[in-house]
Amino acid sequence: MRKALICSVFIALTIISCSKPAAVETPSINTVAGFIPIDSMGLTLIHEHMLVDFIGADSVSSERYDRKEVFNKVLPYLLEVKKYGVKTIFDCTPSYLAKDPELLKELSEKSGIQLITNTGFYGAVGGKYLPDFVFRENASQLAERWMAEFEKGIGNTGIKPGFIKISVNEEDPLLEVDAKLVRAAGITHENTGLLIYSHTGTWNTAKQEVEILQKMGIDPSAFVWVHAQAEQDFQNYLEAAKLGVWISLDGIGWSIDEYVDRLLFAKENGVLGNVLISHDAGWYDPAKPDGGDFQPFTNIFEKLMPALNAKGFDEADWNLLLKENPKRAFGK
Ligand SMILES: [Zn+2]
Repeated sequence: MRKALICSVFIALTIISCSKPAAVETPSINTVAGFIPIDSMGLTLIHEHMLVDFIGADSVSSERYDRKEVFNKVLPYLLEVKKYGVKTIFDCTPSYLAKDPELLKELSEKSGIQLITNTGFYGAVGGKYLPDFVFRENASQLAERWMAEFEKGIGNTGIKPGFIKISVNEEDPLLEVDAKLVRAAGITHENTGLLIYSHTGTWNTAKQEVEILQKMGIDPSAFVWVHAQAEQDFQNYLEAAKLGVWISLDGIGWSIDEYVDRLLFAKENGVLGNVLISHDAGWYDPAKPDGGDFQPFTNIFEKLMPALNAKGFDEADWNLLLKENPKRAFGK
C-alpha cells in the first residue's frame, strides 16, 4: 500500500514536472554575445560607455572612427576593471550617438567581460540626437522599431539589446516628444520585459516619466532614474524608493564626493536595495585626437569603497549594490 502510494506520488510529480517546464525557467538577458542567465551577471557596472560621438543625429556615422583603433584604446580599461572582479558591463551609448554592437562584441570576446547594449532614442540636449522621423511617428511606431531590434537584432548584426535607454530634457511639463519616448519605452517594456533606463536628472522630471508609465499600468520598478545624483532633495530618493523606482547614482567615474553622502543616506534610510551605482565613464570620442582622455571604470573600487568602508559600509552593502540589485532590476 505504502509502496503503491509512493509510486503514484512519483508518477504525479513526473507528470507535473514534465508538463510545466516554464515553471523552472530562469530569467535571462541578452548580451552582445547572446542570452545569459541573470544569475551569471556577477559583479556588474550598470552604466558605462565604450564609444560616444556627440556630432548629432544628422552627421553620426561609423565612418567617423576606425573600429580597430577604438578597440585598441578601450580594451586595456576593460582588462583593468576585470581585475576587480567585474563580470558584466551595461554600455549605455544609444542609437545616433555611435552605438556599435559589433565593436562591443569584439571587446566582449577579447576581454571576457559580458557587455550589454540597448535599444531606444536619446531626447535630451534639445533633440540633437533624434532623427527627424522621431518627431513624425507616434509612440507605437517608435516602439515597433525598438521591438524589432529586440526580436531580430540591431541593424543586420543579429545582436540584441538587453535594456531600453531613452533620455529626456529637464522640463515641467515634459516636452511632447520626450513624453512620446517614455510611452514608446512603456510599450516596448510591455512587449519585451526590457527594463527602461531614462537619462533624466531631477526627481521632478523623473516622477513625470513614472506617472506616464503608471497610467499605462506599468510598475515603477521597470524604470531606472538615470543620473539621480543631480537630485538635491534627498527626501525625493525615499519617495522614488517607495514607488519601487531604481535610483541610479552613476557618475562615480568623475568624482566620488556627491556619492558618499547619498549612499550613506540611502543606507541609513533603508533604501540601499533600490540603488544602482556606476561610473558613466569611458569613452572613445571620435571628435578628439586619439579618442581623447579615457576615464577608467575604477573609482568605485579605488576611491568610493575606501571612503564608505571608513563610514561603516561592509561586504554585504557592496554585494547588494554591485550584484544583487542589478540582478533583481534586470531579472523580472
Ligand atoms: Zn551615460
